[in-house]
Amino acid sequence: MKKWVLGLGAGLLALGAVVGARTAMFAPEAVADGSKIKVATAAPFDVNQAAEHLGAAVRFKTISNQNAADNELAEWDKLQAWLAATYPKTHAAMSQDKIGQTLVYSWPGSDTAAQPIIMMAHQDVVPVTPGTEKDWKHDPFAGTIADGAVWGRGTIDDKGSLVALFEALEALAIQGFKPKRTIYLVSGHDEEVGGTGAEAASKWLATRKVKALFALDEGGVITSDTPMINAPAMLIGVAEKGYMTLKVTANAAGGHSSMPPKEIGTVNLAKAVVAIHQNQFAQELRGPAAAMVEVFAAKAGGLTRLAVANRWLLGGLITSKMADSPSSAAMLHTTIAPTMLQGSPKENVLPQSANALINYRIAPWDNSALILAKTREVVKGLPVTVEFGEKAPREPTPVSSSTSLGWQLIVASAQAGHGGVIASPYLVVGGTDSRSMAGVSDDVYRFAAITLATTETRMIHGTNEHMTVKNLESLIAFYARLLATAAG
Ligand SMILES: [Zn+2]
Repeated sequence: MKKWVLGLGAGLLALGAVVGARTAMFAPEAVADGSKIKVATAAPFDVNQAAEHLGAAVRFKTISNQNAADNELAEWDKLQAWLAATYPKTHAAMSQDKIGQTLVYSWPGSDTAAQPIIMMAHQDVVPVTPGTEKDWKHDPFAGTIADGAVWGRGTIDDKGSLVALFEALEALAIQGFKPKRTIYLVSGHDEEVGGTGAEAASKWLATRKVKALFALDEGGVITSDTPMINAPAMLIGVAEKGYMTLKVTANAAGGHSSMPPKEIGTVNLAKAVVAIHQNQFAQELRGPAAAMVEVFAAKAGGLTRLAVANRWLLGGLITSKMADSPSSAAMLHTTIAPTMLQGSPKENVLPQSANALINYRIAPWDNSALILAKTREVVKGLPVTVEFGEKAPREPTPVSSSTSLGWQLIVASAQAGHGGVIASPYLVVGGTDSRSMAGVSDDVYRFAAITLATTETRMIHGTNEHMTVKNLESLIAFYARLLATAAG
């Protein structure tokens, strides 16, 4: 007995020593900072005028409706004519190509051997949800400037970036800037409804043999109240989850509901949906989420650092903590969301066919074929069929490097305006136009240098979307520094 206790004591001591040593020596793997980059100063610009410009951009109703027939196509023409009139020096310096309503600007660099860079921001916005108009403090399409902010749909997503990019380019052009690397600006017209414009722009670039140093689009911000560290952090998207929908169909004899048979389509469908939902994909700390947790742990210290440094022992603790919140849980696995159910068209009619649509967001390590096969396996034995929905599945993007030159340029240019704020890789769980750029650049990033609290991100696609003048200033200065540093 005594020997056993002694043995256990020695074992615990040894374990404690290993845990302690790993904690002390812990440093995030494969995430670079911006310390090696000499950042250029931002060209001067007038932020109050930029705020007026963002207000003006909001007034063009470039709304991507679910039904494309409802779109007011002339609004895109008007926005583009306004860009040309508002930023004349940029339009003189850059050549412009149009692919439908998607814009590709090129500012040729003097060094033809240098890899170009691609900057992105889309023109369209989502509609205001009917019935919520009255909840807005200011008309969502008036572009009102009040309380130190520009208000309206698109001020953040993504006209804020579009206007800030043009402000930065104009400031550089006025200064007489001559890029060494070619600068491309890609502005998609339909990001909110599929991003066919960005896809076409990517093909356009590929036929011109473009292999960019990096592409930068929206998708991550500086969070002021970052979980785990309770401090600001730059979350730079290095990958996007995939997207797919499966249609589950249960066929059965229809007929009158007064004489229901034993087999009813809706019941079989319900069983299948429950089975699919109960068989969740395992939550794993890997890929961008693992890198993010490592960066946070190095900053946080204490128990967080101890747990992350000793993932071999305490990994389960971290994943279960992250799984508590839907937004961080989404980074750990392919998510399953049964979204639409359909039975018969009338309450006293048995359905001849009942179906469910299940929406999946695919983790970087999964793919659509694997998910279809797994789902079919789960419902084996039930009289249902499982097929892909109408939309073709979209696979997850490759994961971009967190040490590349492009990464370092972005981090350094952002940190020059936000000293001491750490930068972390991040998995974007939604979609952006930049996913189309995987073919023309190995390093595709999603980030805007604006600071938002976690609760403030709700205004994106929600109510009272607004860009503070302070954030607008940060964003323009970030782009101006990045363009001059990367292309200068
Ligand atoms: Zn967007």
